[in-house]
Amino acid sequence: MPHSAVIVIGSGSAGLTAAIYAARANLTPLVLEGKEPGGQLTWTTEVDNFPGFPEGVNGPDLMDLMRRQAQRFGADCRYETVTEADLSQRPFRVKTTDDPAGSPTSGTIRDYTTEALIVATGASAKWLDDVPSEFPFRGKGVSTCATCDGHFQRGKEIAVVGGGDSAIEEATFLTRFASKVTLIHRRDKLRASKIMQDRLLGNPKIEVAWNSAVAEVRGTHEPHTTVNAVVLRSTADDTTRDLPIQQLFLAIGHVPNTAVFRGQLATTPAGYLLNRSALAWGGVETPAGLRMEDLPNYGTAASVEGVFACGDVVDTHYRQAITAAGSGCAAALDCEKWLEAAGISH
Ligand code: NAP
Repeated sequence: MPHSAVIVIGSGSAGLTAAIYAARANLTPLVLEGKEPGGQLTWTTEVDNFPGFPEGVNGPDLMDLMRRQAQRFGADCRYETVTEADLSQRPFRVKTTDDPAGSPTSGTIRDYTTEALIVATGASAKWLDDVPSEFPFRGKGVSTCATCDGHFQRGKEIAVVGGGDSAIEEATFLTRFASKVTLIHRRDKLRASKIMQDRLLGNPKIEVAWNSAVAEVRGTHEPHTTVNAVVLRSTADDTTRDLPIQQLFLAIGHVPNTAVFRGQLATTPAGYLLNRSALAWGGVETPAGLRMEDLPNYGTAASVEGVFACGDVVDTHYRQAITAAGSGCAAALDCEKWLEAAGISH
């Protein structure tokens, strides 16, 4: 069974930055990229706030640059998804598939062992789970990725659900293609930053449906599946109305990708991994009895010795590409120091 000093799980800006640092420390990290290689930034067009790119940078291009930088120093990046992890003893064991959808029963299955693990599995976009009629339209009229599906919307009327920075970014981006964009938000106040709100409210192609929730997605399945309207329910007075649209985008946040670690690593109630840095943030709900002193003495150390967690799988607080990259760097440095202190040669 192939054995590594360190395996990095995930390939967003946290995972790839961890890979760059671990590779430069001659740890030859194995990087298991997961089913969204490059992570969330690959769903973004322009990234304007990553330092070093005064004119902005295209998200997928930025991730490709990071991957190439890690590979230049010897990182072994593989398009495989971890389907099982056994952290009960060291060396840890992980099982992967190369199935693009990450199915544990398809594709080529591989097993690896490792002395240390850097978990950078990120978080995935949420769907409208309380609206059953949304399900048959997923990927066929309902999308969580404006960057991927935006260019199909030329001349159409579309809607975006959410009130955070992502929803506004997507609504604004989609006005390049759509004839009209309705932002559907369940409250009368946006969560997004002031600058993004100004951008939204100043765009003549965007209308906001305040105090509104999607109650139903309507469409046809013949000759192919298409959306033609959503039913909006007022969160103020419960009345409903139809909003004719041809595409619905969801930008309602993310869920952390921690299923393979369930029961093995300490998490918040929402499933975000806990490390020492996360425990230092105010308002983080921790499992009963877990104290900072119980965790190994490294900022990115998770609750099992030899496991380091970084990026959006931990971060309920900052959630920026640059903070994810910074925490990936910290995880690799912590991991290197821990391997050295544990006397594990590589
Ligand atoms: P977010 O800030 O958590 O916002 C999620 C939005 O979706 C909230 O407005 C929430 O409503 C709404 N929502 C959640 N569940 C819902 C449901 N089931 N039905 C209807 N609406 C629902 O997530 P985000 O916008 O993805 O942003 C995440 C982080 O990334 C933030 O820190 C953000 O600042 C950052 N970000 C920054 C940029 C940028 O600077 N360019 C771009 C994108 C994201 P409520 O408000 O009522 O809770």
